[in-house]
Amino acid sequence: MAEVPRLEIRNLRRSFDGRAVVDGVSLSIMPGQVTCLLGPSGCGKSTTLRMIAGVETQDSGEIYVDGKLISDAVTRVPPERREIGLMFQDFALFPHLSVEGNVAYGLRGSRAEKRARVEEMLGRVHMQRFIDMFPHQLSGGEQQRVALARALAPQPRIMLMDEPFSGLDNRLRDGIRDETLSILKEEDTAVLLVTHEPDEAMRMADEIALMRDGKIVQQGAPYNVYTRPLDRASVAFFSDAN
Ligand code: ADP
Ligand code: MG
Repeated sequence: MAEVPRLEIRNLRRSFDGRAVVDGVSLSIMPGQVTCLLGPSGCGKSTTLRMIAGVETQDSGEIYVDGKLISDAVTRVPPERREIGLMFQDFALFPHLSVEGNVAYGLRGSRAEKRARVEEMLGRVHMQRFIDMFPHQLSGGEQQRVALARALAPQPRIMLMDEPFSGLDNRLRDGIRDETLSILKEEDTAVLLVTHEPDEAMRMADEIALMRDGKIVQQGAPYNVYTRPLDRASVAFFSDAN
């Protein structure tokens, strides 16, 4: 029995002011798989993610979740009904809500059910004792863990992460990447992680999709993409970034 991809996008396109920013991107991700969309700044990574999240509209192309069409020229499931968890650079914790309030934000159910789920998620990221604190009382790494708990609390089918570690200081980053990866791996979610850092993709991805000028130019296991770059532009990208 062939497995159905958790997320499949076909031929997504988006232009701004007549310029194709996302130029026919196709991808599929199985449950439990982490795919990194890797490429230089400006190549169209965030726009791709925003279309999958439903906060940006594609000009053409289709998006499927578990084989079900959620977005094309006619169908458009709204963002809040896509069962997608988000960790974006500009999607910080709500400053006026406690840790509990932040993690409970997208949850349904009774107060007691929500509280139980919040405690469970904070346990998963080792943040239970911070439950009554506010974001400004937490370090960058701690805020990151709460953001991860918040994104995973409603049990999303898909996690979209846009450079989620870029605001963290170098010293913390590797540890938080590893910790995040191990938490994601306990869930059955498909992860699409956007980054411009080859290191991060090498460390976290099951599969790398290398993007340039709105297109995926190469795709495969991290080791293969890294050791067998397609052309000189890919070699330059990998070496400049290091
Ligand atoms: P990346 O995430 O890879 O850095 P983006 O998807 O953010 O790239 O942006 C790709 C290109 O599309 C950039 O040149 C950016 O300026 C442009 N772009 C993105 N969003 C818009 C918009 N709403 N209006 C006009 N141009 C945009
Ligand atoms: Mg971006």
